[in-house]
Amino acid sequence: MVARVIPVEPFDLVIFGATGDLARRKILPGLFHRFRAGQMPSDAKIIGSARSEMESAEFRTLVGAAIAEFVAPDLRPQDQLDAFLQRLDYVHIDATGDTGWDALQKILRPDTIRTFYLSVSPALFGAIAERLSTHAIATPQSRIVVEKPFGHDLESARALNRDLLRHFDEAQIYRIDHYLGKETVQNLMALRFANSLFEPLWNATHIDHVQITVAESLGVAGRGGYYDQSGAMRDMVQNHLMQLLCLIAMEPPSKFTPNSVRDEKVKVIEALDPVPLRDIVRGQYRTGRDNQSYFDDVENPDSRTESFIAMKLTVGNWRWANTPFYLRTGKHLRDRVSEIAVIFKDPPHNIFPNKMEGRKGNALIIRLQPDEGITLRTTIKEPGPGGMRLTEVAMDMSFADALGKDLTSQDAYERLVMDVIRGDQTLFMRGDEVEAAWAWADPMIAAWEEAGQRPMLYDPGSSGPEEALMLMHQGGRRWRPIGD
Ligand code: NAP
Repeated sequence: MVARVIPVEPFDLVIFGATGDLARRKILPGLFHRFRAGQMPSDAKIIGSARSEMESAEFRTLVGAAIAEFVAPDLRPQDQLDAFLQRLDYVHIDATGDTGWDALQKILRPDTIRTFYLSVSPALFGAIAERLSTHAIATPQSRIVVEKPFGHDLESARALNRDLLRHFDEAQIYRIDHYLGKETVQNLMALRFANSLFEPLWNATHIDHVQITVAESLGVAGRGGYYDQSGAMRDMVQNHLMQLLCLIAMEPPSKFTPNSVRDEKVKVIEALDPVPLRDIVRGQYRTGRDNQSYFDDVENPDSRTESFIAMKLTVGNWRWANTPFYLRTGKHLRDRVSEIAVIFKDPPHNIFPNKMEGRKGNALIIRLQPDEGITLRTTIKEPGPGGMRLTEVAMDMSFADALGKDLTSQDAYERLVMDVIRGDQTLFMRGDEVEAAWAWADPMIAAWEEAGQRPMLYDPGSSGPEEALMLMHQGGRRWRPIGD
């Protein structure tokens, strides 16, 4: 299969924070891939901006080095890299000051769509939005992209929304959750709404429960300071896992338009029942053979921040009454795995009473990483003579095998940046969506803080604290193993 590349309109893209980690690792290499694929018009302009003083030539050298570091040699032919670097300029601006903005204004073309990518600390979002407006750099057609974290709680998220909405309309604001740019995550929508096979079964009558797991094998060493202020709930559940939950649980939108899709996602968040503390397990990894403890990694021996969380959620609506959703995410777990497992109920009547022992039942497993793909677990007859014995097989599809590696290896940032340029907000969070997710998360965080709860300790390389296994066992269910 060959990827269809639809070139975008001419654009001027300004990246604030262009010398930072995210820009060097993801945004600029992603843009280079799109340039190579022929999606970028030949007169596209990419303007890097940061506090550091440097000439455009120096910035091109920096970007060339970043691409050399983060793009495989066979994917960066020198002539194409040189041509891409020619598209780059640099303007030095301290976002909190008033110099440099006029220089930026001069580089931008009057009739070209302007996109401002704020790859900087959220503390600077308001200052940059304001200056883009007061220096008349932002036009009614401009777009502004903001990175996570979008707030620390409902109040701070509201403040960020207010700061942005003072100068930009909601239709101009693109709040990134890079999980939504993953191929498999978008495939969730295709799977559910472009097939007639699953939708009739997609409800509490047929689905026993849903498990969403995002497990990391590494700890937080190196970014402990940031992580300890946040924890698994704020860093992962309120945003990434919530987005996955929404795509699994939402009603079919009437159209595939940004607001139809996002309206349905907001309804899911608003339908979530409050989660009592007894249905939440928080953990912290302890010292292992090859790692320090969480306390050492964050250099805070009294930390009560969780590096692991598991919880049981219920969605209070007709479709999902009595079908729990189990969410689990953490650091230093057995393997690096992200998946959604939809576990179906047993058939209503069993005609093989003695043949089903140990059978786990039908499940649809959607793998986000590694090896993006879909597995359908089905029961079949064990082959061979000797009567009717049943066994389970996995109908397994790896997207890379089925569609080719080139088509499936696109990074989320590549897709998302091009969506912004095209003006498609479907894969970006709307302001009310982020606020609804914080309104759901805040009372839980307040409850465990008020209770003075300490996270349970777990062994690095394990599946998290025992209590997380019990959370599932209480309902007579089991987590899928993390990794093989
Ligand atoms: P970073 O490495 O610390 O880079 C920050 C960038 O902001 C630098 O280019 C820095 O420029 C610039 N900057 C700082 N203060 C400035 C000011 N007053 N005026 C203008 N520019 C200023 O941060 P990062 O890791 O790239 O993260 C950027 C944003 O993306 C953050 O919101 C972060 O939460 C989010 N994010 C990052 C990742 C990731 O993997 N890194 C993942 C998801 C989300 P100078 O060097 O010139 O000071």
